[in-house]
Amino acid sequence: MISEKMKGFVAGSSAIRAMFEEGKRMAAEFGADHVYDFSLGNPNVPAPQAVKDAILDITENEDPVMLHGYMNNSGYEDVRQTIAEHLNKNFHTSFSAKNILMTVGAAGGLNVILKTLLNPGDEVVTISPYFGEYRSYVGNFDGVLVESPADPETFYPDFADLKKKITAKTKAMIINSPNNPTGVIYPESVIVELAQLLSEKESECGHPIYLISDEPYREIAFDGETVPWITGYYADSIVGSSFSKSLSLPGERIGYLVLPDSLDGAEDILAAANVANRILGFVNAPSLMQRVVARCIDVRSDVDFYLKNRDDLYLALIEDGYTVVHPDGAFYMWVKSPEEDERAFVDRLKKDEHILAVQGRSFGCKGWVRIAYCVAHETIEGALPGFQRVAEAYGL
Ligand code: PLP
Repeated sequence: MISEKMKGFVAGSSAIRAMFEEGKRMAAEFGADHVYDFSLGNPNVPAPQAVKDAILDITENEDPVMLHGYMNNSGYEDVRQTIAEHLNKNFHTSFSAKNILMTVGAAGGLNVILKTLLNPGDEVVTISPYFGEYRSYVGNFDGVLVESPADPETFYPDFADLKKKITAKTKAMIINSPNNPTGVIYPESVIVELAQLLSEKESECGHPIYLISDEPYREIAFDGETVPWITGYYADSIVGSSFSKSLSLPGERIGYLVLPDSLDGAEDILAAANVANRILGFVNAPSLMQRVVARCIDVRSDVDFYLKNRDDLYLALIEDGYTVVHPDGAFYMWVKSPEEDERAFVDRLKKDEHILAVQGRSFGCKGWVRIAYCVAHETIEGALPGFQRVAEAYGL
């Protein structure tokens, strides 16, 4: 008999995964060339050659006992120092190894920091639409996820709403930019306003409110857009990142948390996060991958691949008459459903055209759908006539 809590998680289990499974079933039935699967954020760009070279060199030349052994729960000291110096160079910060905790992807990092911070009933505010797994991650530690709907024009935070949602019960806030599912990047002005609001709320509530910036897409930003580095704006900031997208390594489960000295209770948080990494059963981030990412710290997957997909898909959908948020980063497109219930639109795309998209309600936002365009370019080309026919059928 499974636990009551797991029953809830299973029942709410991701529609994204369900759609992905449906895609595999349809590919078997209709042939992979006749199914256009935009359901999952699985990078279609291979990991750079430098990753393969590093794996071969490390396994060939490094001491295997050290390489595959247990270590400090925070990760290899030299790897953490390399990441700290990389951040210092790029963002004019002054981190050292002690501020970096190597994690099992960004997902592992979020679970570590939420375990570290949350008491049962503590609230964690996020902006909807949001990565649906936040619900489970916060629920894992009996926290309460509080949704603040984004401004529907810009998909930036709606500060009037946010002001009401952040209360004395708020322990943390999670933001995600570049955003999954909208592709929006928060400009500096948004981060400045957010930092100011959180500072005011901290003074009002008399306790820290931690801002957790979930950044697995930081490196996927187009048209010269930059993603502000939040620790420079707000002292109680924590950054979670990974190499899942920047190096196309989602299956390798490697990421890190940045825990600045400026955090209220920094020493306790650093020590507790280390223990959380262990007792969640991660113990430490995968050892070989730690060494690989340190060697590849300045290497990136081919962002231009996503840019071409974005441009071709965005222009075609706009021409068809769809309302689409222009994505500045990540590899998702947020499309307004031509009818109120977006599930019907998703169904029509699937049944009539074998196009798989994900309903907005999975991200806490009805009336929109997400298209993950991290796919082969042929998938985009193949799907465009179908999108057009559906637009015509809706009279767009
Ligand atoms: N956060 C967001 C917004 C994501 O989209 C994802 C994965 O798609 C994650 C976290 C988890 O990333 P990772 O695979 O590095 O755990």
